[in-house]
Amino acid sequence: MTLDSDIKFLKGVGEKRAQLLAKELNIVDVRGLLYYFPFRYIDRSRIYSIGEITEDTATFVQIRVRVEGFRLIGERAKRRFIAEVCDPSGRAELVWFKGINWIQKKLRPGDEIIAFGRANIFNGKLSIVHPEVESPFKLPDRSVDSSVQGVYSTTERLNDNGLGTKAIYKLVCLMWPQVEHLIEETLPEWLIEKMGLVSLRTALYEVHFPRSQQALERARLRLKFEELLGVQLQILSLKNHRIKVCRGYCFSKIGEKFNGFYSRRLPFSLTEAQKRVIREIRADMGSGRQMNRLLQGDVGSGKTMVALMTMLIAVDNGFQCSLMAPTEILATQHYKSICEQLGDVDVKVELLTGSTKNRDRADIQARLAAGQIDILIGTHALIEDVVQYKNLGYVVIDEQHRFGVEQRSRLWSKGAEYLPHVLVMTATPIPRTLAMTLYGDLSVSVIDELPPGRKPVKTLHFAEGARMKVNAFLRSEIDSGRQVYVVYPLIKGSEKLDYKNLEDGAEMLADEFPPPRYVTSVVHGKMKPAEKEYGMRLFVKGETNIMIATSVIEVGVNVPNATVMVIESAERFGLAQLHQLRGRVGRGSEQSYCILMTKDGLSSDSRKRIEAMTRTTDGFEIAELDLKLRGPGDLMGTQQSGLAFEFKIASLAKDGQVLELARSVAEQILARDPELAAPENEKLSELKRKYSVAHSADFSMIS
Ligand code: ADP
Ligand code: MG
Repeated sequence: MTLDSDIKFLKGVGEKRAQLLAKELNIVDVRGLLYYFPFRYIDRSRIYSIGEITEDTATFVQIRVRVEGFRLIGERAKRRFIAEVCDPSGRAELVWFKGINWIQKKLRPGDEIIAFGRANIFNGKLSIVHPEVESPFKLPDRSVDSSVQGVYSTTERLNDNGLGTKAIYKLVCLMWPQVEHLIEETLPEWLIEKMGLVSLRTALYEVHFPRSQQALERARLRLKFEELLGVQLQILSLKNHRIKVCRGYCFSKIGEKFNGFYSRRLPFSLTEAQKRVIREIRADMGSGRQMNRLLQGDVGSGKTMVALMTMLIAVDNGFQCSLMAPTEILATQHYKSICEQLGDVDVKVELLTGSTKNRDRADIQARLAAGQIDILIGTHALIEDVVQYKNLGYVVIDEQHRFGVEQRSRLWSKGAEYLPHVLVMTATPIPRTLAMTLYGDLSVSVIDELPPGRKPVKTLHFAEGARMKVNAFLRSEIDSGRQVYVVYPLIKGSEKLDYKNLEDGAEMLADEFPPPRYVTSVVHGKMKPAEKEYGMRLFVKGETNIMIATSVIEVGVNVPNATVMVIESAERFGLAQLHQLRGRVGRGSEQSYCILMTKDGLSSDSRKRIEAMTRTTDGFEIAELDLKLRGPGDLMGTQQSGLAFEFKIASLAKDGQVLELARSVAEQILARDPELAAPENEKLSELKRKYSVAHSADFSMIS
């Protein structure tokens, strides 16, 4: 047997369970089970007395009790078998809904048993549903010497087929002596020694059967470090490779367009952060290598100006640029503001979107191919379209953080010498740990400073009781000429979800804010794009003063006159989303407000989110917290995030420190041995291979 052997060959598994494990948990070989780690541990050496168990004690408890008697109650689905049990400190109930016949035969009044399971306290009485029951005189024989039992996640189907969490634990116990001698070290000896890590065999043993808390922590550290090191070796090698081979256009000069704009047209002085980022981009563009840069900056930090000025550098060097926005409204806004800002600077700018008329489209395409257009602005769909440039040198992509290698490769137009430089801009603050993993092969710039004079948005939290007060406030803001947003989590009412919805809200607002003085726009995701655009446009032009919307408005539009963002049932939204929505206001010189309306009695997670929103406007702080509360899976989903591998133990949300450590170790190793060709790095080379990044095939195409 090897670790690659089919799981069915392990003692205690067999054909049927092997099939189940494969189907439900994707465990197909011995290694799969060996690397199937507990998500929690229970101290089985500890026996609680019934009297000491309260709602605050451990959720899982073990009690040693005497069986007093039984009751069988309820009909059909409600039918349940209850064993009354007691110990000297109190009484409790053990409850079964399933397997009643079996447990009825197994238990006798007067039996001494050990019952283990999740504690429920109802009306002051302890009950445990579907406990594990053992005789205290027959503790299971253990091939392992840990008094702590791993809790393995399982599925309903496995559970129904006798593979509940405890059965999996038993399988792992049975497996250990069969495989122990097969485990081969995966990290080089020198690295283990240098980092003071435990061996793989020890780590795997302790993670399943920890002998102490410290041993468990050492084991987990070793396993996490290995995973994160593998990823970092992979990503950094790709990056180094790309830097070496991906040659790009060299924009060596700063010419009259950039200088003319800078000296005559720039309407404000740049922030230090904007200057720094422009310098970073300029250096990349002049390096002779293709730039791939992610520009992060909070809403309102002035990313568009950076885009414009760096596009002028490209134009000065005789190249065309394109700027892509996620929606037509945004593309149109960019077009207008860029034309206005350029003024008499001689740069040809055009707008191409889904609603460009066919005749204009043909004309634009012809001029583009002839090199008569310098900057083309449009939607992301431009990437998909067959738009041919004469010499596209630089592409800016606004408000997008999922712009993978694959999309990048699509920018390569036929006959072009190199791939254009790429700048991806996003206001979604991606926490460092996540960026390091997702964009390890990109360079990252951050605008961490807002233009001067911006007043931070004041964020307030109210419950339903304050509704009148909030309405009065909205009225006073609108009466002094400003506009407000009111955002709902749902379009229609739902029986299942107790949240505010846009339809009811619109009715309420129509009563409270009657025309002609108050005029509303409505925008939501079920509307046709043209209807959405229309509603949006009225608000942008100031013809309506209340925008009733769902979160579809979260991205990008700029209405400086809007000063209030009301978010209904704010508890329903994630932190990142709340922050994006809040970013719609505070874009002018007036004081702006974000009002979070919630129900009373929030869950503790919701309370933390709302509290964070009222405390800080720092997008990065919020993103870090969001990642902690929700985990990166929720933030983007592993598949969308472009991670082709799955972590068995490391967590991007929680293991930032280990990740940074792994990254710096990977950097040092690659600096000395870029190809991992040295004999002492052979194991690292294998480790790296396990973590090939999604679409890495595209890299070979590009390089
Ligand atoms: P975002 O980063 O959210 O895309 P924008 O580029 O839309 O931000 O900028 C928001 C507003 O701030 C715009 O009206 C822009 O003209 C203005 N702005 C940008 N940079 C500065 C600056 N250095 N000083 C003052 N205003 C600025
Ligand atoms: Mg923007």
